Amino acid sequence: MIAPVLPTYARADVSFERGEGAWLTSTDGKKYLDFGSGVAVNALGHAHPALVKALTEQAQKLWHVSNLYKIPEGEKLAKRLIEHSFADTAFFQNSGAEAMECSIKMARKYHAVSGHPERNQIITFDGAFHGRTLATIAATGNEKYLEGFGPRMPGFVQVKFGDLGAVKQAITPETAAIIIEPIQGEGGIRVPPPGFLRNLRELCDLNGLLLIFDEVQTGVGRTGKLFAYEWSGISPDIMAVAKGIGGGFPLGICLATAEAGKGMTAGTHGSTFGGNPLAMAVANAVLDEVLAPGFLERVQQMSLFAKQRLAELKDTHKAIIAEVRGEGLLLGIKTLVPNGDFVKAAIGEGLLTVAAGENVVRLLPPLIVTEVEINEAITKMSAACRKLEAATTKGAA
Ligand SMILES: *Cc1c(COP(=O)(O)O)cnc(C)c1O
Repeated sequence: MIAPVLPTYARADVSFERGEGAWLTSTDGKKYLDFGSGVAVNALGHAHPALVKALTEQAQKLWHVSNLYKIPEGEKLAKRLIEHSFADTAFFQNSGAEAMECSIKMARKYHAVSGHPERNQIITFDGAFHGRTLATIAATGNEKYLEGFGPRMPGFVQVKFGDLGAVKQAITPETAAIIIEPIQGEGGIRVPPPGFLRNLRELCDLNGLLLIFDEVQTGVGRTGKLFAYEWSGISPDIMAVAKGIGGGFPLGICLATAEAGKGMTAGTHGSTFGGNPLAMAVANAVLDEVLAPGFLERVQQMSLFAKQRLAELKDTHKAIIAEVRGEGLLLGIKTLVPNGDFVKAAIGEGLLTVAAGENVVRLLPPLIVTEVEINEAITKMSAACRKLEAATTKGAA
């Protein structure tokens, strides 16, 4: 018999009743330190008072009206995002995949209204993750996600992550855009080589391509800047944001320059739920916190502290940890045991982490994490490492 919830996830045998800050309480009353943040979603931790207030106050007033009408909370959010990014315009949806769909449609439409409908091919990178819709699994290019789902949506070519020569070779008169995550999240916290994003910008400018950043995971303070592209010194033409921006309320946003968005006129795109007053109220409250003076600097300090402590952890547990990677609070530990074993052992110690590609364990604490909590996570990971070491020795004996 099939499970009541379609079993597409291999779920850990734990469920939660409530949360506060970086902590979750399971239904059987145990405390867990949450260094997964629902995969980089709970940027401000659980039950942040300002978010609870924004959501409940809005819930008393108005939930949904439809995009047939003006939504002042959405206009406010768009203006703030524009003020704090490269963008001139924003479109609201409900998820990362939808924000990517909008980005892909926008790039194709841009070339179509520029007189080049043949320019509809998009270059993506191996190890990428852009979502689970039919277009975004084609963009992701991972056979595991594509298999059995019928004809692969055409229009995507994939090249090796970080290989500029391969990108150059892949550009044809039909190329519309390049899509890249400034740091690959699901792929295993893969940071591109220095200067790579800048080189892509130059290639795009040279060839009339649009540069699309998928900041669904890297955005909203995760790397210590509001958006990860800010570290690169260049900016994209289109950017997808989701996960952290709603702090746990579903929201995806496609941001773009006026030029890149010029084809998206009335009737070309839509969303029933996207930009509803509840999501807009919460996202404005998330921005209030993340843009508050000192907040992002504090994320950078916590990152530095976490990296130092993780380097020590790696030195103490050389048989378990091969490498520490990442930026800001988007960190990864490449393990020498299967990453799933590490995640499981950490749960056993009361710490939540998330597995990723390249046998990496992701650490995505809420951005409000403290030094005390980072130390506590290190203690829990040490204990998990010792158990894994004992099991490895036993296995070898
Ligand atoms: C999570 C993620 C997505 C997909 O977001 P959903 O909300 O699950 O649709 C897309 N791109 C990146 C980089 C992501 O991390």
